Amino acid sequence: MTELTRRRMLAGAASATVATALAPPFAHTPALAAAPLASKQAPGFYRYKVGDFEITAVTDGAATFPLPDKFVQNQPKAEVQKALATAYQPTETVTIPFTPIVINTGPKLVLIDTGYGPEMNAKTKGRVGQLPLNLTAAGIDPKSIDVVIISHMHQDHVLGLRTADGGFAFPNAEVLAPALDWAYWMSDAEMNKLPEGYTKSVYPGIRKAFVGLENKVTKYEWGKEIIPGITTIATPGHTPGHTSFVIASGSAKVFVQSDVTNIPHLFLRNPDWQVMYDIDPLRAAATRKKFYDMASAEKAMIQGFHFPFPSAGFVEKEGAQFRLVPIPWNPII
Ligand SMILES: [Zn+2]
Repeated sequence: MTELTRRRMLAGAASATVATALAPPFAHTPALAAAPLASKQAPGFYRYKVGDFEITAVTDGAATFPLPDKFVQNQPKAEVQKALATAYQPTETVTIPFTPIVINTGPKLVLIDTGYGPEMNAKTKGRVGQLPLNLTAAGIDPKSIDVVIISHMHQDHVLGLRTADGGFAFPNAEVLAPALDWAYWMSDAEMNKLPEGYTKSVYPGIRKAFVGLENKVTKYEWGKEIIPGITTIATPGHTPGHTSFVIASGSAKVFVQSDVTNIPHLFLRNPDWQVMYDIDPLRAAATRKKFYDMASAEKAMIQGFHFPFPSAGFVEKEGAQFRLVPIPWNPII
């Protein structure tokens, strides 16, 4: 009987090394120099079909930072660290991925959310703000984007509207933004009544992303088909106008949840946990439960902006918790 002990595994590894000295005709001359490390990730984009539509998930990168004490507003840090450890994650830092998507509907090329943009790309030495590079790698010219849909007006979704020199990154696109978020983020009264903290700190940067683009922005409402095949769904709480989408072609569909949850191993597992970025945390938690009750009952595919790349999967209900079942890699489309 095979016994999987550490000693046996090490012995196995040693005999595997011996076995690599192959007899002719498989013997080969070893390379004379050690291969240099690549030290670079491959471009990140992934395609799948929804009916006649083609979706390209394009990573903007991922941010890793020291775990804030109040990353989860209603849990002690130790509980959050326990959940990170359970998910085989480091417990002193947290990593959040960012994944905008491009939908080719046939007549229209639509981008949902824009990532962190060039300024944050420089500041993070390329960890985020990768969207332009990865769009190019995916063969998508920013000039060919017809519509940019903003799910909600947080930095990781809007700063990529700009180029490094302050221009508009998608020069031929119309921008669709949620009416309620627009009203909120453009209001001095709302900004002035906020306590010091995350939301107040990001106001100026979010407004700056739209300066000079106001005439390109059309505000949208919930429950409307804003592009043929793309319908808005009310999922407020994370921000006042936070919006999800259903993309449907024929009988196929995918739900684009945007930020109904942040990283799934914390917030899908614990739908009552309130990430520090939720503006109305109780409303966000209510939205979460409603959304995932629906998605798990329907066995619906979900694209999640902060899910691990390529950020698509199914949500399974386990008592009061949910679990993400990622889609398997498909080598053909
Ligand atoms: Zn976000």
